[in-house]
Amino acid sequence: EGDGGGGKEDERILVSVRLRPLNARELERNDPSDWECINNTTVIFKNCLPDRSMYPAAYTFDRVFGFKCNTRDVYEECAKEVALSVVSGINATIFAYGQTSSGKTYTMTGITEYSVADIYDYIKRHEEREFILKFSAMEIYNEAVRDLLSTDTSPLRLLDDPERGTIVEKLTEETLRDQNHLKELLSLCEAQRQIGETSLNEMSSRSHQILRLTIESCTREFVNRNSSSTLAATVNFVDLAGSERASQALSAGTRLKEGCHINRSLLTLGTVIRKLSKGRNGHIPYRDSKLTRILQSSLGGNARTAIICTMSPARSHVEQSRNTLLFASCAK
Ligand code: ADP
Ligand code: MG
Repeated sequence: EGDGGGGKEDERILVSVRLRPLNARELERNDPSDWECINNTTVIFKNCLPDRSMYPAAYTFDRVFGFKCNTRDVYEECAKEVALSVVSGINATIFAYGQTSSGKTYTMTGITEYSVADIYDYIKRHEEREFILKFSAMEIYNEAVRDLLSTDTSPLRLLDDPERGTIVEKLTEETLRDQNHLKELLSLCEAQRQIGETSLNEMSSRSHQILRLTIESCTREFVNRNSSSTLAATVNFVDLAGSERASQALSAGTRLKEGCHINRSLLTLGTVIRKLSKGRNGHIPYRDSKLTRILQSSLGGNARTAIICTMSPARSHVEQSRNTLLFASCAK
């Protein structure tokens, strides 16, 4: 225990890497593809830069996905089990990590949809239990937390509850009528999410988005009694801000300030995840950022965690891709 083994098998953080196809812009400028998945678990750096010694030739993870894999494959093998643990009362978090334009939102959107469909499917097959689903959504932008289900954009405070842990004060929580209701709410969130233009001249998300589904259930025969057979858990779908360095992606002024905060949240997340993956002894600095405070009860402890790191295969992004693989290596 705590000797670097990362604990029991289902306490480990499930780490995978997804390589997207070259996009139109990369193809247009003949940007070569430098990375390749040679099997289910290994991605290799196949190019011969003069300084190639800086780049380990091969990286191994729980699972890697080449550009021919679709989001369904990623979901089935790296997210499904983690997401569905919520119906058994186990908290879970699924992250998408990577530089801007690497495919985080593309991947997370699909994973969220498949998870929700499977959760509803599970509910349909378990009529002996009564389920209540609640949904909330927030964005952390510039270390301020905003409700994505409200038009009120004022920042929300985090409170410490002795029993429930960190609470986002006044966060809207919708009780879901059905799957369509959730779809409506998801498109509302998308519309509300802040987007900024970076000096890399790409639309970029500088905010962390957390979509949160809370599921309570109890056996029907006990519904009207004060039963102890109640289960409650939360699954978080987290689309992280772009992992690129502030210095590279940001120009000046407010953008720089945003960058510092984004880095702080990502930096803290990196530290927390690295410590969790090395076993559970010692202090874990959840309180150093809003992101890790909000996720604390669903990250580490008995919670299940999966991280999907997305990357572009293009040579022009080799530095960022390497940073992403280093992050992924530290998490496993
Ligand atoms: P990010 O959220 O990391 O900034 P996006 O998810 O928005 O990146 O992806 C950038 C673009 O690349 C989008 O147009 C998206 O549709 C496309 N894309 C990303 N991943 C894939 C993939 N695996 N296959 C095909 N297209 C992808
Ligand atoms: Mg995105």
